[in-house]
Amino acid sequence: MSLNTDVLQKKFGKNIIFKENLSKYSWFNLGGPADIFFRPEDKTQLISFLKDIKDNNLKTYILGAGSNTLIRDLGVKGLVIKLGSKFSGIKLLGEDKIEVGAAELDKKVSEFAKNNNISNLEFLSCIPGSIGGAIKMNSGCYGSNISDVLLSINVIDHKGEEKQIKSSNIQFYYRGSDLPENYIILSAILKGTISSKDLISKKQEDLIQRKKNSQPSQIKTGGSTFKNNNKKKAWMLIKESGCDKFSVGDAKISEKHCNFFINSGKAKATDVEKLINKVQKEVKIKTGINLELEIKIIGDAK
Ligand SMILES: Cc1cc2nc3c(=O)[nH]c(=O)nc-3n(C[C@H](O)[C@H](O)[C@H](O)COP(=O)(O)OP(=O)(O)OC[C@H]3O[C@@H](n4cnc5c(N)ncnc54)[C@H](O)[C@@H]3O)c2cc1C
Repeated sequence: MSLNTDVLQKKFGKNIIFKENLSKYSWFNLGGPADIFFRPEDKTQLISFLKDIKDNNLKTYILGAGSNTLIRDLGVKGLVIKLGSKFSGIKLLGEDKIEVGAAELDKKVSEFAKNNNISNLEFLSCIPGSIGGAIKMNSGCYGSNISDVLLSINVIDHKGEEKQIKSSNIQFYYRGSDLPENYIILSAILKGTISSKDLISKKQEDLIQRKKNSQPSQIKTGGSTFKNNNKKKAWMLIKESGCDKFSVGDAKISEKHCNFFINSGKAKATDVEKLINKVQKEVKIKTGINLELEIKIIGDAK
C-alpha cells in the first residue's frame, strides 16, 4: 500500500484504525481484519478522507449494521467505511415525511414514525439493520419494501462528491438496487401515510409477533441466506432437497427457519461459506434451481 498511514493516523486520529478486527461489526460475529477501518466523525471528515485516498485505488466496502454481511476470515485487504453516530438521527419534515441518517437503525425509524402517527413504516421494526443497508438491499418483509416509502437519498461517491437521487431514478428489485458500489448513502427521505398511533402500534406488534413465530432470534446470523426463488421460497427448496440438517463445523442451519444459517459457537466464516456452497450444490442437483445469495460476502478468500 503506497498510503502514508502515519499521516492518515495523525489527521484522522481515533477514527481510523489499521488492522481492525471486523468480527464485532457483523451479526455473524465472524471476520478477519480490515487493512484500513474508517469511521468518519461527520460528513466533512468523510469528504476530506475520500479526497486524501482517492488516488490509491483501494478496494472499498461500506458496512452498515452488518446484519446482512458475512466477512471472510482473512479480512478485507482494502478499506472498510462504517458511518458513525453523527450519520444517524431522525427529523420530521412535514406531516408524513421524515429525514433519516443512513446509520440510523430501522427499528428506531419505525418507532419514530409510530410516535408521529406515520404509518407504512411498521415493517422496519422487523429488520435489524440500518437505513443505508435497507436501501442498498431494498429490504422488506410481509409485503412491504423500503423502496415503497423512499422519496430520495443523499449519497457521496468515492471522490467525495455529494448528490441527491430521487427514488424514481433508482432501479429497485427484490433485495437489491442498481446503486453503484461506490456510493455511500448519507441520508434518506421517507414518506408514509397519516394514521393513528394505536393502529400503527397494533400493526407493528402483529408483524413483530409473526416474525418471532417464524424466525429465530438472539443468534449469530445474517438473516435469510438465499433469495426466494420466484417459483418457491428458498427455505422450501432447502428443506425439500434434504439440506436443512446440514452443517460444517459450528456453522449450522436454524431449526426454526432453514434459510437462516448460524454461527453456533466457534464457526469460521469459511465454515459458513462451505455450508452455503454445500446447500447450493445439493439444491441444484435435486431441483435444478440455482439459489442466489441474499447475504453479501466480503473480504479475501486467499
Ligand atoms: C435476524 C435477522 C433478520 C432479518 N430479517 C430481514 C427481513 O425481514 N427482511 C430483509 O429484507 N432483511 C432481513 N435481514 C437482513 C438485513 O437485516 C437487511 O438486509 C438489512 O437491511 C441490512 O442492513 P445493514 O445495515 O445491517 O447492512 P450491512 O449488512 O452492513 O450491509 C448490507 C449491504 O448494504 C450496503 N450498505 C450498508 N450501509 C450503506 C450505506 N450507508 N451506503 C451504501 N451502502 C450501504 C453494504 O455495503 C452491503 O452491500 C435480517 C437479518 C437478520 C440478522
